[in-house]
Amino acid sequence: MTAGRPVVGVFALQGDVREHLRMLEAAGAAATPVRRSSELDVVDAMVIPGGESTTMHKLATVFELFEPLRQRLAAGMPALGTCAGMIMLADRIEGGIAGQQTLGGLDVVVRRNAFGRQVDSFESDVDFAPFDAPFHALFIRAPWVEKHGTGVEVLATVADGPAAGRIVAVRQDAVMATSFHPEITGDDRVHRYFVDLVRSIRGS
Ligand code: GLN
Repeated sequence: MTAGRPVVGVFALQGDVREHLRMLEAAGAAATPVRRSSELDVVDAMVIPGGESTTMHKLATVFELFEPLRQRLAAGMPALGTCAGMIMLADRIEGGIAGQQTLGGLDVVVRRNAFGRQVDSFESDVDFAPFDAPFHALFIRAPWVEKHGTGVEVLATVADGPAAGRIVAVRQDAVMATSFHPEITGDDRVHRYFVDLVRSIRGS
């Protein structure tokens, strides 16, 4: 731990790591890539980035990071998952491949490639409850939250278009996830919200 600045790791075996590191630093965290369990030991919180959840599961298993991560999450470590990261943090998934496992942490059912495989990527405003103004979100073969337990707070839904009302950001205690990629916009409000959450947990 760094005085004042929470140490936030970014799962770095696969996915868009650099963008998250930069956003986390901008949001006031000390950000560091995590590839092995010794690196996980020194972080206060983790970001699981976008990428490919099936590959993340395989690599995390090979690099012996899957089980340590699962245990830290089960012990209450704060985490932010974006896109594939949302899939990794879901307790249950729809549309996974045979044998695909998740880390868990969020009492949700997440559907992979929910917006349709042909819809590779799109942009849309989302109504992000804690923010004053909508968040302009970028979706890339994104999942959505199909179902959630009573302990899960819906943070954001799609504002308009055919997917209007779909749940695209959630939080349960200190674990949150977005369907979209907040790290590749110029808007750091999601990362600030998360770093403030980590700070509030550390201070308690
Ligand atoms: N469709 C990918 C998966 O299942 C997620 C895509 C993304 O992270 N941009 O992991």
